[in-house]
Amino acid sequence: MKIAANELKPLFEQHESEYISAAQRVLRSGWYILGPEVEAFEHKFAAWLGSKHCIGLNSGMDALELAVRALKIGQGDEVIVQGNTYIATVLAITENKATPVFVEPDDYHGIDPQKIEAAITRNTKAIMVVHLYGHPCDMDSVMAIANRYKLPVIEDCAQSHGATWKGKNTGTFGTIGCFSFFPTKNLGAFGDAGAIVTNDPSLADQIKMLRNYGSQKKYYNETTGKNSRLDEIQAALLQVKLSRIEEIIAERRVMAQKFLCGIHNKLVELPRVRKEANPVWHQFVVCCEKRNELKQHLHDNGIETIIHYPIPPHLADAYKYLGHGKGSFPKTEHLANTVLSLPLFHGLDNEQINYIIDIMNSYQ
Ligand SMILES: *Cc1c(COP(=O)(O)O)cnc(C)c1O
Repeated sequence: MKIAANELKPLFEQHESEYISAAQRVLRSGWYILGPEVEAFEHKFAAWLGSKHCIGLNSGMDALELAVRALKIGQGDEVIVQGNTYIATVLAITENKATPVFVEPDDYHGIDPQKIEAAITRNTKAIMVVHLYGHPCDMDSVMAIANRYKLPVIEDCAQSHGATWKGKNTGTFGTIGCFSFFPTKNLGAFGDAGAIVTNDPSLADQIKMLRNYGSQKKYYNETTGKNSRLDEIQAALLQVKLSRIEEIIAERRVMAQKFLCGIHNKLVELPRVRKEANPVWHQFVVCCEKRNELKQHLHDNGIETIIHYPIPPHLADAYKYLGHGKGSFPKTEHLANTVLSLPLFHGLDNEQINYIIDIMNSYQ
């Protein structure tokens, strides 16, 4: 049996005619940038999450970058961020000329709240948390620290659309929630797309300007900015996806449950879920000391897997200048050497899931 690491076509094909007619509607409208579709999506997405404002943007990276910028964080400022994340989270800080201060993760792949306080200095301007793999961070502890030090919190929700902590959506705890709609994400567009949500009206206005050359009124530029607009076609397609998101998440939860119940192998550590958290399983990530051998074993049996992520940002060549050598963040580095994401996507049938479970259990 052959199983790809991920496939996007089956989910599109499930509601193909709806996507086609949404795209057609925009093509025939003659209006392609910042129009009714973007506005409609922004309203629907904010309402779904329980946030007051949503601003559609060009990507998740832009959402993070503009979040940092809207909070007026720049040169000489520090932003606390977990060490185990995708490079885009960290780029959002350094593209604003601020300095990332890495904190080790806890046992759930989120920032370890017990390690945050020691990283705070007089230059700290924000705490950035990443709900990695669709698992919410411990938001009670994070918000308690942020409130004590009066620090804004930026949530990287690129992988956590609809994931909740005590029933509340990720992206609605902090000052700003940043989302990616990259095609592989749970709420994936058909090209690059992203968004910010916030309850703060002045931040919302600020980000609206930043996405449009720093301008609210055409040809009047109140601030500098860039072009980071969500386009009408993606916004129309995203509305279709959003109308199905509960089904998409429910299906992923069922598949993850099958893996959790079926995989029994002393050499494999299964993902843990806290009782306060309801993850959306953007990735199903196991840990294995001999990860590369496990990956090879799966590959030899026709199952492809991905490592999210093999090189932690502090060890990336791009961040050599920060001066963190190997061993500076042992837990982050250990995760990079042991994590493996199993296939989990719409279109995997029971036979394939059972096959993955069998091959996982036969690894020795
Ligand atoms: C995908 C992702 C991003 C970046 O989103 P893009 O839309 O690809 O720019 C940022 N952070 C995390 C954790 C991601 O998974």
